[in-house]
Amino acid sequence: MSKIEVAKGERKKFNLNVARLYDFTEMNIPVEVICGKKEGPRLFISAAIHGDEINGVEIIKRLLNHKALKNICGTLYAVPIVNVFGYNNKSRYLPDRRDLNRHFPGSQNGSLAGQLAYTFMSEIVKHCTHGIDLHTGAIHRSNLPQIRADLDDAETNKLAHAFNVPVMINSKLPDGSLREAARALKIPMLLFEGGEALRHDEHVIRSGLNGILTLMDEIGMISFKGKKAEDEKLFIALSSTWVRAPQSGSLRQLKHIGHRVQKDQILGYISDPFGSQKVAIKASCTGIIIGAVTMPLLNKGDAVFHIASFDNSKDVKEQVDDFLDEKIGP
Ligand SMILES: [Zn+2]
Repeated sequence: MSKIEVAKGERKKFNLNVARLYDFTEMNIPVEVICGKKEGPRLFISAAIHGDEINGVEIIKRLLNHKALKNICGTLYAVPIVNVFGYNNKSRYLPDRRDLNRHFPGSQNGSLAGQLAYTFMSEIVKHCTHGIDLHTGAIHRSNLPQIRADLDDAETNKLAHAFNVPVMINSKLPDGSLREAARALKIPMLLFEGGEALRHDEHVIRSGLNGILTLMDEIGMISFKGKKAEDEKLFIALSSTWVRAPQSGSLRQLKHIGHRVQKDQILGYISDPFGSQKVAIKASCTGIIIGAVTMPLLNKGDAVFHIASFDNSKDVKEQVDDFLDEKIGP
């Protein structure tokens, strides 16, 4: 039996109990459920599966206070902090360095990560028809707002276009991710990535909030007349690759997120503290920089720039520029 019971027209908060920690305090997932008076889609929106990725927590906070939610069809399950342990420790992980997004669908008697994944799946995800999971770049790395999803699935593709950010990545499903577990249940879901860990980025927060609201409008949950881009202005990357540091040292960065680069173009220089042993870091392909380090101290092999390639990166660049310049929302 589900612990979550909400009547039509009701709005309720729950604390889903997951496990008892070794100090005997209980670990709970906080959830708010809004059940409309009319039937409709059942959408979950989750954040902080990686506990230090906090833009999504702020997005959900603003969403829950948005006037468009006054009259909804269907049910919204808002889960601002899935990995409560990581969030309290400002960490991506769970106590034993486990990555929660590699432990789905989880199990009732598994590790703490497995139990957390199991509770989230059985109490929330299983009851939903759609989902959105909010992420940021890892620590010291920032991402251009982007959607990652299984774009070969027609319904997921529709959701991705409705979210309205210019760059979409048709990404393979890593083993044990929430997306893989949702796909096994045939629940279409998106992953939104934007900004960096442990930071609030206003543009990312506004574009994430706008994307959720335009998606909810598209699937008939709310009426929201926000900013919508035409489909021709949204682009699916052909592929994406990380360019790694060719040597250890500190980075002088020449190219940044949103820049268009040509294959073999110099993106920056990595050098020793005297600036004498200087090595260029070059683009591995032509495309748009969709992720980059924010911290310039590098070891050889560290991922430095994430480049996505497109059929026509010039068009993408124009849209990305407009998107980054645009003031979204009030
Ligand atoms: Zn993440």
